[in-house]
Amino acid sequence: MSRFWSSKTRELKPYVPGEQPREQRLIKLNTNELPYGPSPRALAAMRDACDDSLRLYPDPTGLALRQSIARTYGLDVSQVFVGNGSDEVLAHAFQALLQQSAPLRFPDITYSFYPVYCGLYGIESVRVPLTQDLRLQPEDYQDNAGPIIFANPNAPTGTALPLSEVEAIVAANPDHVVVIDEAYVDFGGESAVSLIARYDNLLVVHTLSKSRGLAGLRVGYALGHADLIEGLVRVKDSFNSYPLDRLALAGAQAAVEDTAYLAECCARVALTRANTVAALRQLGFEVLPSAANFIFARHPGRHAAELAGALRQRHIIVRHFQQARIEQYLRISIGTDAEMAALCDALSGILADQGGC
Ligand SMILES: *Cc1c(COP(=O)(O)O)cnc(C)c1O
Repeated sequence: MSRFWSSKTRELKPYVPGEQPREQRLIKLNTNELPYGPSPRALAAMRDACDDSLRLYPDPTGLALRQSIARTYGLDVSQVFVGNGSDEVLAHAFQALLQQSAPLRFPDITYSFYPVYCGLYGIESVRVPLTQDLRLQPEDYQDNAGPIIFANPNAPTGTALPLSEVEAIVAANPDHVVVIDEAYVDFGGESAVSLIARYDNLLVVHTLSKSRGLAGLRVGYALGHADLIEGLVRVKDSFNSYPLDRLALAGAQAAVEDTAYLAECCARVALTRANTVAALRQLGFEVLPSAANFIFARHPGRHAAELAGALRQRHIIVRHFQQARIEQYLRISIGTDAEMAALCDALSGILADQGGC
């Protein structure tokens, strides 16, 4: 606290990211990074880009990257926006599109950055409770009453809505923007990108941080009607003209174009996920069905905070949220097969050790 802080700064409730430990030996299952490296083609493209041209500013519009993304999804380049991580893309969407007279709606259990952006931009919001079994109920959003944002698959639950239910929400709210945060869609969700041609109120946001294994590069993008994209560009050009540097533009483009590598990584994650879910159920855990690269699980006999602490002592970190309704759950990222075997061994030891109830 400083007397020089603005009143706005004093009021902020910043997002708290998952721990990025310095300790190397840890098995890190807490922030949903891909356990495999990025596409070798992306790494090569970044090495090639590392030359004297770095003295020049990058392309402020990220045109070459946007063209690759447009081709990948069968869209026009005017329907693609790129930014410094999808968090930045989302921030611009909040400011450009979600700040309306009607309050913004999102689930009570979802990505915890949404309420932070509301605080930052002074956006009024309503939290719509998920059902008892932590599912999003499309009927709760079918009143054309204001803008909407949700993650599909949802975080931290991992559950996904089918495309038909997503479309029902978009179609029922023609006078408001619906933002779908598809950070995890490549791991098993159904993307709403195919709806963009028919709905001018739909914005779909993706990231290269999860399925493309490039969390360290900071690249995300938004897909939607050209007029929505133009709104994002206006905010971006009033904030930072060059959100993506030359290395990021080169690496991201190669990563987006390497669709075979993406498919291979996602297939591996899905297989490891299925094995992990089965192993955790064997240990007595209740596991929500996951379409993401993490699972959300609770043990009926053990407090989640206690389990997370015991795992930490065994050099495994998972995410635990001190939040009503989900404080008994652990969110566990899908790592390599070896990491997940170590997790199950550790949990089995912890459960045996302390008796249980
Ligand atoms: C990880 C995540 C993001 C942020 O991605 P970045 O591109 O790394 O900023 C956005 N939304 C959800 C739901 C996420 O889990």
